[in-house]
Amino acid sequence: YLAGRTLILLSNREPYEHVRSEDASAEDGIALRRPPGGLVSALDPTMQRTRGTWVAWGSGSADRETAGEDGRLMVPPECPSYTLRRVWLDDADVEGYYLGFANSALWPLCHLLLQHYETRAEHWARYHAVNARFADAVAEEVARAPGDAVVWIQDYHFAAAPAMVRERLAATGQKAFIHQFWHIPFPPPDILRLLPTEAQQGVLRGMLGNDLLEFHTERYAMNFMDCVAALVPDVQMRREHRRIHFEGREVHVGAFPISIDVARYEGLARRAEAARRAEQLRVRYGANGATLGVSVDRIDYTKGIPERLRALDQLFEEAPEMRECLTFLVVATPSRSELASYKALEDEVLASVAAINARWSTPEWTPIVLFHENIGAEELAAIYRAGDLCLVSSLQDGMNLVAKEFVACNVDEQGVLVLSRLTGAAEEIEGAVLINPFNVDGVVAGLREAIAMPQAQRRARMRAMRARLRRATIFDWLASILARVDELAPPAAEPL
Ligand code: UDP
Repeated sequence: YLAGRTLILLSNREPYEHVRSEDASAEDGIALRRPPGGLVSALDPTMQRTRGTWVAWGSGSADRETAGEDGRLMVPPECPSYTLRRVWLDDADVEGYYLGFANSALWPLCHLLLQHYETRAEHWARYHAVNARFADAVAEEVARAPGDAVVWIQDYHFAAAPAMVRERLAATGQKAFIHQFWHIPFPPPDILRLLPTEAQQGVLRGMLGNDLLEFHTERYAMNFMDCVAALVPDVQMRREHRRIHFEGREVHVGAFPISIDVARYEGLARRAEAARRAEQLRVRYGANGATLGVSVDRIDYTKGIPERLRALDQLFEEAPEMRECLTFLVVATPSRSELASYKALEDEVLASVAAINARWSTPEWTPIVLFHENIGAEELAAIYRAGDLCLVSSLQDGMNLVAKEFVACNVDEQGVLVLSRLTGAAEEIEGAVLINPFNVDGVVAGLREAIAMPQAQRRARMRAMRARLRRATIFDWLASILARVDELAPPAAEPL
């Protein structure tokens, strides 16, 4: 893919972050951190191969001293082969662009959770200004690229940036294919209308600056087209071709469901150490053949954690035979705690776990075991492996990778996935018990169905889910997007 072209990637989070550290292993008191997500590990090889540039917020406490004057450095440290270009943000930028418009306006609106939506003129102004700064950096990096460039923008932090990048390239007579992956849901027009006009137009027209826009599902892609049709005058579109005609060019739209590094998770779960740890968890929390449930989330109001806890409470109330027969390991990791709504949710989750445990615990049994911290992939793999069932109760979720990780790690093929219908994953995974997290009675019924499911059926469903997942990894996702880019903008023929 991309034959001979340079990939210029833009994302909010950087692939390598330097932080000040007291750790003995840290050289000169500076440690390198790599974000845990699969995205970086999937993109790194492509970045290395195309010797591209990754533009991102320099968020680490030691980022400035490890980069050049211009914010650039070569990465990965063990094999420096592509450029990381850091863009600096001050506290007011983080407040307005990141915590403000991105996470208090776009995030709740895209997840259809209007009660969390907040809008401030200053937030949009900062978001716009910060997007412009990143667009400047991207345009400079395109100018530096030795040959043709492909610009790939990640996520909802940069809705305004694509049109800005296009403008800057046009002003200097440069050309690049510009595309964007939108990692969260995209809402229908009645929701996007809740943004003030300037922001609403800035988001849609910004995104229309792309040549190709990628969403997880057809539904989100269609929502985007509906928003453009309803809110942007003077566009024509061929819905059946997923194509929008805007300002004399074509904007293509498509569904590309993201996935995980399946082999990595499966490998982690198959390690002897993971088997031992899973067994330890089973003995400790699932003694006497009790069913072990697991859930893993950042503490975020989109994840339906209070709804899940309510369902568990109701289950123990309604079905006394479940007491002492079901233990739930709840991994709930603090997230975005700078925002009051997240902090309040965290307090609510802690209080409600304590209340349920106070209500139902016996001398031999605690119904909910809370891991209130960030857990690494090795330990998560063991937790997933130990689980008889995994409950994903998101009120709305672009994809939900936890569902896929559970399937990949369930190497003993005994587990049941209880999955919210309101996730992108539910449109793809066949074999889960589907639930609607708003309907607590339905969640209780789904849990009872999962617990009672005969072993042969569990195994058949899990096998089918695993087989399908192996054919749709994050590498397949990346390949399908790059193939689409090549199709829409064929690389120039190699010179003879
Ligand atoms: N995760 C983690 N440690 C934790 C909690 C979550 O590494 O303590 C990871 C989890 O394994 C998954 C990701 O965070 O890869 C969550 O992705 P998902 O799509 O489920 O939700 P998001 O947090 O992106 O909204």
